[in-house]
Amino acid sequence: MCKFLCITIIGLYTLLYVSCNPKRTEGNFVMPTKKNKGVVENFKKACFFVSSQKEIDSLKKVSKIDIELPTNREIEQVRQITDFIGLPQNFGIYKGNIRNAMAVVINGKRIIIFRKDLLRRIDRAGGSEYWSSMFILAHEIGHHLSNHFSTDSPNSKDTELEADFFAGSVLCRLGASLEETIKPVSFGFLTTSLDHNNHPDKKSRVAMITNAWNSTNFQLNNTFAVPPPPPDDDIDFGTQSIFTQEDFHLMHDDLLNNIIENKSYYELEGIITRIHYNDSRYFNSPNNIQEIQVEITKDNTGFYENKEGGVKIGTRILVQVPTGEEMCHACILNYLSILVRGRKIRFKTYIFGSGLDSYMFYLEKLKR
Ligand SMILES: [Zn+2]
Repeated sequence: MCKFLCITIIGLYTLLYVSCNPKRTEGNFVMPTKKNKGVVENFKKACFFVSSQKEIDSLKKVSKIDIELPTNREIEQVRQITDFIGLPQNFGIYKGNIRNAMAVVINGKRIIIFRKDLLRRIDRAGGSEYWSSMFILAHEIGHHLSNHFSTDSPNSKDTELEADFFAGSVLCRLGASLEETIKPVSFGFLTTSLDHNNHPDKKSRVAMITNAWNSTNFQLNNTFAVPPPPPDDDIDFGTQSIFTQEDFHLMHDDLLNNIIENKSYYELEGIITRIHYNDSRYFNSPNNIQEIQVEITKDNTGFYENKEGGVKIGTRILVQVPTGEEMCHACILNYLSILVRGRKIRFKTYIFGSGLDSYMFYLEKLKR
C-alpha cells in the first residue's frame, strides 16, 4: 500500500524541469482519428517537461510519438487559457505516449502533446493539482506564443524562463494563488539542482514564476481604471438591501450575531472594480461569484477609537460574498444584478483571519 502511494505521489510530482531536444532534420505528422492513432516523428524542435537529467538524455532518442485525440475536458482546459489572453485556440492538442508534456512545431503546425493520463490523474488528486496541469499547458503554450520555435536555439535558459513567466502570469489571471502556481515546479521530488546544459535550476524558475504572479496580481488589482456605471444604474431595484440583521438571526450564526450585536463590522461604500468567479464545474452553488474587488469611496464605520482608523479612501479591497444558498429565487436575481462591475454599493463586512479576508453580510445598491 505504502509502495503504491509513494509511486503515485512521485508520479504526480514529476512535473519538474523542461528539456528541449536537439535539432532534427525533418518532421512528419499524421492526424489521429477516433479509431486510429496518429503519429509525430522526426521533429526538428521540441520542448519537454521532464523530471531528471536521465530523462532528458533518454528524450534525445525519442523520434516517434503515437498520438490520440484529446477529450472535450482537455480541449476545454486549453481553451480556458487561450480565452484569457484573447487568442483563438489554434493549437493541435493531443494525448501521447510521453512522460509529461511537450510543445513541438511540425511543418508550421503548432502542437502540444501531453501524457495520456496526465490531466485526468492530476484532476483526480483534487485541490490545487488542477492548477498544476494548467501550469504545464500554459508553459507549453508560452513557448508557442513567444515564437521560441522560430529561432535556431529555442532550448536556452532564457526561453524556458520566458515560458515560465507566461505560465505564472496566466495562472494568476485564471485565479490560482501564488502557492498553487509555483507548486508544479517547487514541490517536485527532485531536490538537487539541475542547473546545467540549457536548463534553468529550480530556484531561478520559482523566482521567475513568483515574479510573474506578483506583477500580474499587482496590475489586476491596481492599474486599471474604475469601470463606468452599468446601464441600469438609474433603475430602482425595489428592495435594495439584500441582507438585514433579521436575516442573519434566522441563520442562527452565532459569530455573525455577535458581530452584528456588538457592531464590530465595517460599513463601507465603494465601486465594484472586479468580480472573481468560482469555477462553477467544481462549486455547484446558485451564485458562482466568489468575491468582489471594491474601490472604497466612503467609510461609515463608527467604532474607531481615533481618526486614524478605518479603511483608506481609494484603496481596493477584496470582499467575499455569500453563496446565496439561503436566498429565495427573486432575492438571488436581485442580488446578482447588483454585483456588477462599475456598480456603486454600500455594504457591511467583517474582517476575519489574518485581517486580509473580509466577508460581506449586507449589500445595498447606490446611484453613481
Ligand atoms: Zn519549456
